[in-house]
Amino acid sequence: MSQMHAPTCQTSVTGRRVVIAGGGYAGTTLAVKLARRQKPTDDLEIVLIEPNPCQQALSELDLVAVGPPRPEFCELWHPTVFKNLPVTVCYERLNDVKAEERAVYIGPREGPNERVEYWRLVIATGAVAFVPPVPGLAEHAVTMWSVADAQELQRRIDAAFKRAATLYSPEQRARTLSFTVIGGGATGIEIVGTLGQMLPRKARDAGLDSKDLRVRLVEGRPDILYDLPPRQRAKAATRLERMGVELLLGSMVERVEPGTVVLENGERVDAEVLVFCGGAKADPDAIEWGLEVDNSGRLVCDEYLRSPAHENIYVIGDVAAFRDPETNHTLPMLAQYAIREAEQTAENLLREAKGQSILPFTPHMHGEFVSVGPRWGVGWMFKLNVSGVPAIIMKRLTYVMYWFSVGGMRLAWKRTREMLAMQR
Ligand SMILES: Cc1cc2nc3c(=O)[nH]c(=O)nc-3n(C[C@H](O)[C@H](O)[C@H](O)COP(=O)(O)OP(=O)(O)OC[C@H]3O[C@@H](n4cnc5c(N)ncnc54)[C@H](O)[C@@H]3O)c2cc1C
Repeated sequence: MSQMHAPTCQTSVTGRRVVIAGGGYAGTTLAVKLARRQKPTDDLEIVLIEPNPCQQALSELDLVAVGPPRPEFCELWHPTVFKNLPVTVCYERLNDVKAEERAVYIGPREGPNERVEYWRLVIATGAVAFVPPVPGLAEHAVTMWSVADAQELQRRIDAAFKRAATLYSPEQRARTLSFTVIGGGATGIEIVGTLGQMLPRKARDAGLDSKDLRVRLVEGRPDILYDLPPRQRAKAATRLERMGVELLLGSMVERVEPGTVVLENGERVDAEVLVFCGGAKADPDAIEWGLEVDNSGRLVCDEYLRSPAHENIYVIGDVAAFRDPETNHTLPMLAQYAIREAEQTAENLLREAKGQSILPFTPHMHGEFVSVGPRWGVGWMFKLNVSGVPAIIMKRLTYVMYWFSVGGMRLAWKRTREMLAMQR
């Protein structure tokens, strides 16, 4: 990484430079909070390193994966968010960390890089979809971890409908209109619920019989949504079945052939369009940066969200493995934790700038909601089970709160109108 390239980052040389790598939920929240709350005497310079000009709001992907192609709904443009804030955004990748030199190297993945020194570094580079080595799975399934994935799913759905419209045999049409989602966690349920609700209308619009549609969920364990209370899981399953979604539980996928998923119990499941929502793993590049990682590849952090042995480096969001001292479990990869970790880190950086001692991170979870189709949901809040329309309102409200926190009233109002238009 010793080669240099022409600086693309207009960094100053005076302030205490906070370099934030990754402009997702965690990095964007941190940059906004720091920029708004800092005082001139803190003498901070905030530099965000992010290759994409917009944040992909992953928790909103279910709204765009099916239906009219409006993937831009999931994109929050950084130039809009940082318009009047003292944040320098470098549209580059973090490629290397030299902790002993307090410097990072940024630039294209292959090629010359620019050296940027830091006072504090915050790594928030997120996670990627994890695809297990099941034969045929990676070749035939689309994952659901980016706007590009949602666009690919839309493309495959459209292709299946166009092909089905040319077929006379009802069996062939049913096989062509078979949509299978693997994974009964929150992401899988959100995607299969959206398919179950939206595809019948799409079939009717195309002049096809919605009775030819086959929407299925495959989950290796005997139940879905293990993070939710059993009552809420049962409600979600009933709702899916009422939509016509077939639940195939209790058998793992053995292999995938073109158009077919073969289960360990021998069952063959038609899957013209196959979506894999079976999990995620931390940004795989992070293990190259010389910091401590756990055995799942997430960056280890202490109670203050700092990398052990590196007091100047914080790690937050999905890439970080924070162990909850109350449960002794590592926090799951959720936007709500990523946002809270970012808020705590903003607070601690401001305290450090003022020469004050920093505070430990205490995770709290006040609720969790999963959509089952665009207009219905299940979840809990403050130990109370919530389902139906109130649950979906609560889920969508969390989006509005996020937009408000990073973009103020203007962004929250604009996005709320767009979301309401998509809900119709
Ligand atoms: C379909 C789906 C639905 C979800 N629903 C929910 C939900 O309802 N509720 C919930 O709480 N969570 C949900 N999640 C999880 C949530 O989206 C993640 O927990 C959250 O995105 C984590 O935020 P983050 O900032 O750590 O990572 P991200 O938001 O993924 O951001 C990471 C950023 O780092 C950038 N980056 C990567 N590598 C580099 C590099 N080398 N240099 C610089 N930048 C880099 C990426 O471009 C990206 O912008 C969902 C996830 C998915 C996929």
